[in-house]
Amino acid sequence: MTETDKQKFVWLGVYGHPDDETSASAGTMVKLANKGHQVYVVTATGGELGTLGTDGTKIRREDLAKVRESELKANMEYFGVNPPFMLRYVDQELDKEDPEILGLKVLDIIHMVEPDVISTFGPSGISNHPDHIAIHKSTLIAYDKYFSGPDQRRPLLLYPSIPADIAEMYNLELSEIEKNTDIIIDINDTIGHKIEGLKNYRSQEDAQEFATHLSERSEPHLETFAISESSPSDWETYPIINFLRSI
Ligand SMILES: [Zn+2]
Repeated sequence: MTETDKQKFVWLGVYGHPDDETSASAGTMVKLANKGHQVYVVTATGGELGTLGTDGTKIRREDLAKVRESELKANMEYFGVNPPFMLRYVDQELDKEDPEILGLKVLDIIHMVEPDVISTFGPSGISNHPDHIAIHKSTLIAYDKYFSGPDQRRPLLLYPSIPADIAEMYNLELSEIEKNTDIIIDINDTIGHKIEGLKNYRSQEDAQEFATHLSERSEPHLETFAISESSPSDWETYPIINFLRSI
């Protein structure tokens, strides 16, 4: 048994809407959970402005946040991870909050779960969605304020990334760092969970489209992450890096 086999890691994802966490990292979260590691997700908004159902169902606008929250909770259970932390902001209002205050809310949760890794959107939020950019900024603020104690290493901060050629194919205006693939995770063994997880977001059209796209994909399934510039410069020496590259 190697050192990393014995060690238990804590992964914390901090995202804007119910379904962001599944699109960005379901395959990785399931792999971690399957090996007995702890996975937490923070979801900042209820996704109130999303689509109102797929496949003939019609959800009332005022019910959408509740529906999406239940879809998120069901997915966390299905993935074998902890129930989500809901910050209960309203969709597309996250950038109206003071970034410091939103950052303090994220910081509280960081203190609570003491993560080894925090994953959140990078500077472009992948889609340039204002909520994604707002949660990026505030998570960065929280990360910079977090001090885990003298005998503990700082957690790593990472962003879901998309290789440059794929970003170009989908016309994504990513920041440079979000094209880095510092960590490449082979999720072929958990892709079924990711596709089912996306399908479980029955209220959301784009989740259904992404699920179809993944099911039709013939290339190997990967999730890639970029290490934030704010992470410690010796990030390569962290045991979780080896671990993530080996799962
Ligand atoms: Zn989103």
